[in-house]
Amino acid sequence: MKYISTRGQSEPVDFVEACLAGLAPDGGLYVPEAWPQIAPADPNETYVDVAVRVLSAFAGDALSEPVLRELCTGAYASFSHHSVAPLVQDGPNSFVMELHHGPTLAFKDVAMQVIAKIYDHVLSERGERMSVVCATSGDTGGAAAAAFAGASNVDLYILHPHERVSPVQRLFMTTTGSKNVTNFAVQGDFDDCQAMVKAMFADRGFSQSVGLSGVNSINWARIAAQSVYYATAQAALGPDRPVRFVVPSGNMGDALAGYVAARCGMLAGFEVICAVNENRTLAALFETGEMRRTDAVPTPSPAMDISVPSNFERLLFEVSGRDGDAVRTLYERYKQAGEAQLPEQIRGPLGCAGFSASSVTNAQTMNEMKRYLVQTGELICPHTAVGTFKAHQLPASEAATVVLSTAHAAKFPETVLKATGMDAPLPKRCDALLDRGETFDIMPADLRLVKEAISGARLPA
Ligand SMILES: *Cc1c(COP(=O)(O)O)cnc(C)c1O
Repeated sequence: MKYISTRGQSEPVDFVEACLAGLAPDGGLYVPEAWPQIAPADPNETYVDVAVRVLSAFAGDALSEPVLRELCTGAYASFSHHSVAPLVQDGPNSFVMELHHGPTLAFKDVAMQVIAKIYDHVLSERGERMSVVCATSGDTGGAAAAAFAGASNVDLYILHPHERVSPVQRLFMTTTGSKNVTNFAVQGDFDDCQAMVKAMFADRGFSQSVGLSGVNSINWARIAAQSVYYATAQAALGPDRPVRFVVPSGNMGDALAGYVAARCGMLAGFEVICAVNENRTLAALFETGEMRRTDAVPTPSPAMDISVPSNFERLLFEVSGRDGDAVRTLYERYKQAGEAQLPEQIRGPLGCAGFSASSVTNAQTMNEMKRYLVQTGELICPHTAVGTFKAHQLPASEAATVVLSTAHAAKFPETVLKATGMDAPLPKRCDALLDRGETFDIMPADLRLVKEAISGARLPA
């Protein structure tokens, strides 16, 4: 199984190379050369069984099935619920898929736990070491810290914006106590963190000397690992039952994983509704075909404060008939002008791909957390509330509705309290978090200092 770039100008690579590289050298994202056909999940399979089958299909010869079984078994042992992604019914024909049973209480754990195991396995076989860098607005950094803590062949460097993540989010990143995890609290915002990570990748000399790698949501292995829970949801609801998935979306990795599950034959049909917050670029892309760079505005669902979602590029590649030239031209225009219009030959198929997107306001999100509590007795996180609000608005249908619950309410206690008047205590298994000491280095947003800290060498000013 080979992986090609959405911009058509990179050499095909295998699964492991695509995973370790993150971004393709031509600036595109890796996708499989052809969609493997994978048998739907069976309700008698465990989550690990399905994950092994799916990842084996995507890995091809790059990783053997026994190895994947060992890695997945280890990865999912860290979850507090044995079915990993349980479905909970919250109304007639209406369900929530809980993706927050991992160590850092957000769905990012589902893929990150496996990816960290893949990295460590591959690098130890090769006798190599890599530096994984990760800019985070909150959840990705915690998931990466938990997953890579103690890895023997990876040094993890997290860049988070100082005093701009929630206290609970910070604790998950700063209390691993592991020597191989370094956390920089950057005196700047998330964009400053992201810009420094991009600049480090662009510096070929630096990136090769420290063995730089990235695990943000453009990494193909994340999408592959996330397609698994769509398959287990379909199996739980019945193999032929039509399902519409409502996915709280930011960079669209989670929503795209649903598309992948469908393309590989694991779903009965395909309907994904992306629910976005007041950062509504994705909704505009579907409505008017206009891609426009704007500054993300802060909302109660910060993990979704994204302007143009990075994984949209993978969808464009598919609906354009896998036309790498068309995708490259579009992104070049967007890069130069800060805006671009999707051409007609893309807009047509985009409208028929089974996707839609719609935006939910801050007030609707806050009210929804209250409504959900009153009607079900359950607290939900603000990201999940964006999804359940949208689901509640949908016209009645034969199809079962499944909202992806992307984080635990306890990860955003300030917002939950404001919306509902209720405390959202951390689950018992996170007790240790509050007792452990925090380790992080406060740093100016200065690329040279960050590079020096990562390489351990002084660099010319
Ligand atoms: C990352 C994140 C999202 C958005 O997921 P994408 O794959 O980027 O669309 C939604 N909710 C939470 C809690 C997250 O951490």
